[in-house]
Amino acid sequence: MNVIFLGPPGAGKGTIAALAKEKLSVPHISTGDIFRSAIKNETALGKQVKSILSSGELVPDELTIDLVKERLKEGDTSGGYILDGFPRTIPQAEALETFADIDFVINFTVERDMIIRRLSGRRIAKESGKVYHILYNPPKTAGICDITGEPLIQRDDDKEEAVINRLEVYERQTAPLIEYYTENGLIRDVDGSDTPEKVLASFLTVIDEGNG
Ligand code: ADP
Ligand code: ADP
Repeated sequence: MNVIFLGPPGAGKGTIAALAKEKLSVPHISTGDIFRSAIKNETALGKQVKSILSSGELVPDELTIDLVKERLKEGDTSGGYILDGFPRTIPQAEALETFADIDFVINFTVERDMIIRRLSGRRIAKESGKVYHILYNPPKTAGICDITGEPLIQRDDDKEEAVINRLEVYERQTAPLIEYYTENGLIRDVDGSDTPEKVLASFLTVIDEGNG
């Protein structure tokens, strides 16, 4: 099963993908995670995209498309995958069609106020990659990752100024994908405002029905 997770920043795509990958035994491929890991490791890619991510703008299509195309060639994708955060533009979606066969596009819907609450409280652990929320998904000890014990940090692009820009970028460049995938019949809406367990259950029901 090849699935795309679509939705505004903060909709819970990464959180649900982390839960769903265990249930479905498929890799969770997040372009944002790939870029952040390149930045952390100071690779050539990381140096190229660092300031773009901080500002909340999008990495150029060509670069992002090539990266995903290569990633999907890896052996772990043969039983399916979850693409989280790609495509984010119409040209990316058009390119994806030339090298992937997508079964469903899950559109996580969440109101703007909730998006802002989620993004402003999001904290991440760089080493473990785990995502927390200061209120909704706190670690056992405040400010410390449960797995590695490292200090949690706020992403640069979760700071207020970048958040407003990212929501604009989403509306302008990514939201048109909803219509694109509605026209070809792949879109499935999932209410992302419930608890992660309930959102996961809705997602699993939707893909089960689609297969039945
Ligand atoms: P996205 O990948 O769509 O940007 P995340 O999965 O990183 O979103 O979630 C954004 C923030 O909201 C994180 O701090 C996460 O812990 C929190 N979160 C995610 N899903 C839920 C949910 N269903 N209920 C409450 N908080 C959530
Ligand atoms: P969120 O889920 O909070 O929107 P992501 O982790 O998916 O954030 O993405 C973080 C940043 O990485 C984006 O703001 C953008 O700069 C870059 N990025 C991720 N995916 C893409 C993509 N498909 N195309 C272009 N840039 C991307």
